[in-house]
Amino acid sequence: MSDKPLFVIKRNLQKSVQTGSTFQDQLDDSYLKDICQKITGRSDYDCQYVENDYRDDFLNKSYNKGRLATLRYRDYVHFITFSDQAITGRNSSIQSAITTFNIFYACPYDKKKLYYYFICKSGNPATDYHMFMYRLMKTVGFTFLNFPISSPASSFTTIEDMMRARDENRKNNKGNNSTFISKNENGEYEAYCKTFGANKYESSLICYAMSMIIGQTKKIKLYEILEGNLKELPKSSLRVLRKMNTVDIVRTDLTFEKRIFEESHGNQLRSPRYQFNLLYKLGEKHCALCGCKIPDIIQGAHIWPVSSIRADNSIGIDDKVRFATDGDNGLWLCENHHKLFDRNIIVILSDGTVKYNHDLSCIHVPYLCAFTKNTQIPSIYLNDNFRQYVERRNKGLNMANYVSF
Ligand SMILES: [Zn+2]
Repeated sequence: MSDKPLFVIKRNLQKSVQTGSTFQDQLDDSYLKDICQKITGRSDYDCQYVENDYRDDFLNKSYNKGRLATLRYRDYVHFITFSDQAITGRNSSIQSAITTFNIFYACPYDKKKLYYYFICKSGNPATDYHMFMYRLMKTVGFTFLNFPISSPASSFTTIEDMMRARDENRKNNKGNNSTFISKNENGEYEAYCKTFGANKYESSLICYAMSMIIGQTKKIKLYEILEGNLKELPKSSLRVLRKMNTVDIVRTDLTFEKRIFEESHGNQLRSPRYQFNLLYKLGEKHCALCGCKIPDIIQGAHIWPVSSIRADNSIGIDDKVRFATDGDNGLWLCENHHKLFDRNIIVILSDGTVKYNHDLSCIHVPYLCAFTKNTQIPSIYLNDNFRQYVERRNKGLNMANYVSF
């Protein structure tokens, strides 16, 4: 038997029949030679392009899912996925990498390796968004055989790293806000994932990377934020997550939220959608009054309190749930500031000014001033909705009792 490296590649992409353009058309011999050289140290190889009905231990009977080439050499099988030739949107070139990861991860053969190869000729493959995704890909085990810019992506070593990078990414690209990583008061890591359309690929990759970092020691809570169409993560992704066995998946839709609202009492409400909406509006947890960023002690504080929403008989249940989970009806506050706000020792005015209750014994004032750095709520909070919630809250208070910091 020949000892030559052998590529086995499905010829057709999903749309090859319609477009007349195959995956083979995109793969120059020079790419394959380069890949072979980098992986095996040899530049001679054989290559078989196979049709949709071909199957073996590593390839299913289908078209080429994942822009995948396999390279078999000695007893190793190498899975290589390729970028698009033209990088158009934020998700191009990333989706197929995730599909390939799913195939790779499900393959029971253990002498296997995973690679990424750039063949892009147009577009920008190194936007901040792409760089974040490459870091996730490195974290889950991809080796990049080439890279479009001189500084290669590094893997994430902690979930905090990921949270920070994600937040930076979000600030620079407002359109990009489908998945959020956070940590709750019990120290559990959480992922809030929109699952509609291309978001599902990004959400899957983020959850894989979190799983790889955390190992088997703890569980991650994955909240699938389902919209009207109730699309959940793709089956292939769910299969991978189940095999990783580090993720508890909670599907949340409006029925689920309604149940949480009805089953909780008083001011209590543990609503994933509220958390998601706050993350969506405000980004990473950081106290609006002191800037504290320790996620374990930052909470979503309702402006119009849940207990008041509950008690208001003039509104129906659907609206109650909507008000109780509205991102505009909330602040990120540290536990201390949350208590001070709930007890109305600190108030916020509709223009965002922060004041404190004059009745507070003056011996406590220096302490309060020292750790309340923001005497004006950050501008990201302020909009008409926010102002209305503030007015509803403050209606019952005697504002003459409050003074400026
Ligand atoms: Zn604080």
